[in-house]
Amino acid sequence: MNKVHQARFFEQIAIMFGRGPKKPTEITERAQQVHELKRMANKVEVRAAILKAHEKPHGNTWRNRRWAFLLAVNLFFVVSFYFDIQILEGSLSASRLIGFHLIDLNSALQVMLAHKHIIVNLVIGTATVLAIWMLLGGRTFCSWVCPYHFVAEFAEKLHLWMAKKKLVSDQPMSRGLRTWFWAIFAFAALGTGYTVFEAISPTGILSRALIYGPGLALLWVAALLLFEVTFSRRAWCRYVCPIGLTYGVVGIVSPVRVKYTLQGCFHEGDCKKVCLVPHVLETVVKGRAVDTEVILGPDCTRCGACVDVCPTGSLKFDIKGLSKIL
Ligand code: SF4
Ligand code: SF4
Repeated sequence: MNKVHQARFFEQIAIMFGRGPKKPTEITERAQQVHELKRMANKVEVRAAILKAHEKPHGNTWRNRRWAFLLAVNLFFVVSFYFDIQILEGSLSASRLIGFHLIDLNSALQVMLAHKHIIVNLVIGTATVLAIWMLLGGRTFCSWVCPYHFVAEFAEKLHLWMAKKKLVSDQPMSRGLRTWFWAIFAFAALGTGYTVFEAISPTGILSRALIYGPGLALLWVAALLLFEVTFSRRAWCRYVCPIGLTYGVVGIVSPVRVKYTLQGCFHEGDCKKVCLVPHVLETVVKGRAVDTEVILGPDCTRCGACVDVCPTGSLKFDIKGLSKIL
């Protein structure tokens, strides 16, 4: 990793914890050349090329794959419980797959903090989960597995529709809040001896409701969704949920990531509009890319929405050391 990429790597971690993206101070020579060529390009020709690129409406290939996977994982738990198939037991917070204990990293952390000691069985249970998400990209859990992400996507569509009609407007908050909430929930578990976050986590509530049947806790999930529709777009995932931050840290060195290629990009920013974490796409702003190819930061949920929407194929999934996978 050269100096420019090293600086960007650490900057992306700081951004994940809440720091705002800044204009890069160091850019590779080859990227500077591309930036310069783009600055000198004929505006009329660029406009015509943009219109041509947008002629064909974009597909939803990755979204469809992701929804299919997310529903399959969650339904697998339901079917397994309903038919008492002992291949998979439990919920997303803690489960057993063919005898292997799988424990959500954040839940395990909360339990150990509440009990104030390291529980060996929990460490073993989280090891497999840690390995899986380190390989697949930490926050892949969010967009490919979390049931709250799925329902929040529909709430987001409603919010955007209402915002277009000027019925609501998004109230963005500080992203640093999520880091504070992470610490607050950790101290709450330590101080009270209870896994406080687990009681209010919409991920756990929805997963348990799907498997064991609905309960009053669903009212809390409905209130969160109402807040997101009427007040702040994707507020829970963007500003509160500690699971997202935990998995973001897990995915820092993941080989599965989204790669940006500077050359063909028109910088019109469609990708940022559909992204849950648009700060990871700061690199697509004209003049910001530090190299001709840039890997998006660990807060990216690998949802593929930007890959679907990009008219020039400048954003693609990539596996480190292997070729592009679309
Ligand atoms: S941030 Fe939390 S609620 Fe949002 S998708 Fe990730 S795990 Fe689910
Ligand atoms: S950068 Fe792309 S893949 Fe990552 S979260 Fe945003 S839209 Fe999804």
